[in-house]
Amino acid sequence: MTIWNLGSINADMIYAVPHLPGPGESLAATGMERFLGGKGANMSVAAARAGAQVAHIGAVGPDGRWAQDRLTEYGVDTRHIDGVEVPTGHAIIAVDAQGENNIILFPGSNHAISQDQLGQALSSAQQGGLLVMQNETNLQVEAAKMGRDLGLTVCYAAAPFQADAVQAVLPYLDFLILNEIEAEQLRQATGQSVTDLEVEHVIVTLGSKGARYYHRGTASDFPAYKVKAVDTTGAGDTFTGYVLAGMDRGMPMAQAVSQANRAAALMVTRHGTADVIPDLKEVREARFD
Ligand code: ATP
Repeated sequence: MTIWNLGSINADMIYAVPHLPGPGESLAATGMERFLGGKGANMSVAAARAGAQVAHIGAVGPDGRWAQDRLTEYGVDTRHIDGVEVPTGHAIIAVDAQGENNIILFPGSNHAISQDQLGQALSSAQQGGLLVMQNETNLQVEAAKMGRDLGLTVCYAAAPFQADAVQAVLPYLDFLILNEIEAEQLRQATGQSVTDLEVEHVIVTLGSKGARYYHRGTASDFPAYKVKAVDTTGAGDTFTGYVLAGMDRGMPMAQAVSQANRAAALMVTRHGTADVIPDLKEVREARFD
């Protein structure tokens, strides 16, 4: 089947600076690199690298065609990415010599996806496929409703976390994934713990401790693989992409989560995001202590 991903596409612009700029300061960067980023794009790449057929629904501005091309190169179907007259979503990331950073996020084209575009994309979705969303685009609720009506498995990665955004899609979800901090934020905002939710599959990722999977409220633990972590950016997105690919292939959930744990463990040993997400062969061949 196909994984339909209503997802963000960002340019991550990383500026090396001698120190983080203060108020009113002009500061020359000593270097600049541009990477493909955004939770949506990362998940599309991860699921495609895991062997799934992935169709990304999103938007880029005139400055973002390279990002669309990069997704195509990574094996993602980009026919439902619209070109709009709004700057492409981007993150301006200043990193100082100590590795401290500050980040300015501009959602741009990620909030300019049209209802028509969404409807047209999902009109070719077949019952039994998967639909995933994160909290970086517009039309999350509309997509979740459409997904439910079309008989898709509706999945939501609750990041960046906003309690009202999760609550709005909850009635339509088959699968919710969030990290430990987000699960606690959800509990504080709604009084509901993840075991109270009427969502068939829930995964709480636990960083270096691994992940906990709840099937209709019953928990199973999956410890993380032991690795020397150098950069945890994109670990959650890699994990989610691999779980979705496993679900899409009809794997038992335990097997999908174990494979996702392996992929994410490998990911944290690498610097970077979408461009360094491991493929299935690397994940299968990886040896952990
Ligand atoms: P991020 O926002 O950094 O991408 P996240 O907060 O969404 O990640 P985490 O719970 O930190 O998600 O990590 C996701 C998964 O990555 C974990 O469930 C685990 O499989 C793997 N992982 C993260 N950190 C480590 C680590 N230090 N060692 C091994 N695996 C890790």
